[in-house]
Amino acid sequence: MYIDSHCHITCDDLYNRKEEVIQNMQELSGAMIMCTNQEEFLRALPIKEKDARFKIAWGWFPGDAKEISENHYQILQAAIDTNQIDCLGEIGLDYHWDDTFKDTQKEVFIRQIEMANQANLPISIHMRDATKDCLSILKEHAKTKIIFHCFSGSLEILRQCLEMDSFISLAGPVTFKNARKAVNIAKECPLDRLLTETDSPYMCPEPFRGHQNEPMYVQYVAKKIAELKGMDLAEVCKQIETNYASIFA
Ligand SMILES: [Zn+2]
Repeated sequence: MYIDSHCHITCDDLYNRKEEVIQNMQELSGAMIMCTNQEEFLRALPIKEKDARFKIAWGWFPGDAKEISENHYQILQAAIDTNQIDCLGEIGLDYHWDDTFKDTQKEVFIRQIEMANQANLPISIHMRDATKDCLSILKEHAKTKIIFHCFSGSLEILRQCLEMDSFISLAGPVTFKNARKAVNIAKECPLDRLLTETDSPYMCPEPFRGHQNEPMYVQYVAKKIAELKGMDLAEVCKQIETNYASIFA
């Protein structure tokens, strides 16, 4: 059975057809719904209540850091205090789209890491064109389990991340024809530290690249990892299920 450690099924695009998306997930044993705002979080609650395969992650996204006020931290804290979320994320730094408010991004990131530390919740990390700052903040502040979502770093960055005892989650790009980095990561990262994800509705894996992505397509990520490692698919899937379960243990 497959694991999707990162999907946005409560964002408008997928939520509009959620029954079908969930119906299509018959070969998945677990999926984490990533929520980037309160509306997506409130949509996720009844989905998880009905279906124990789901976990919920919520956090303030780095790109939204300028809008985050004390009130935002309070509503997130209320969800933590009532045990409604399983993971804090996706949080992190993104200098790709806008690097004009790096200090604000760092402040929002650190504050949420501290909230996760206090509640002993894992964190799901979004790190784009900000590797150095992101890793140094994590090394200094993070005390809970770390998932690097849609990992796209070099082997040297992989080594540094593994030293932090983190999990490396691979998405659609590992299946793309020009994806040398992700392919190297899939080969080099020990299987007991790997996770699979879709980041749906984005980045649909081959052979469906360009389609709207959804959790069922995570199978192509797992199949590619098995192929690259020269391992049996069932064995790869079983280990990824074990890895994923250990994050919430
Ligand atoms: Zn995401």
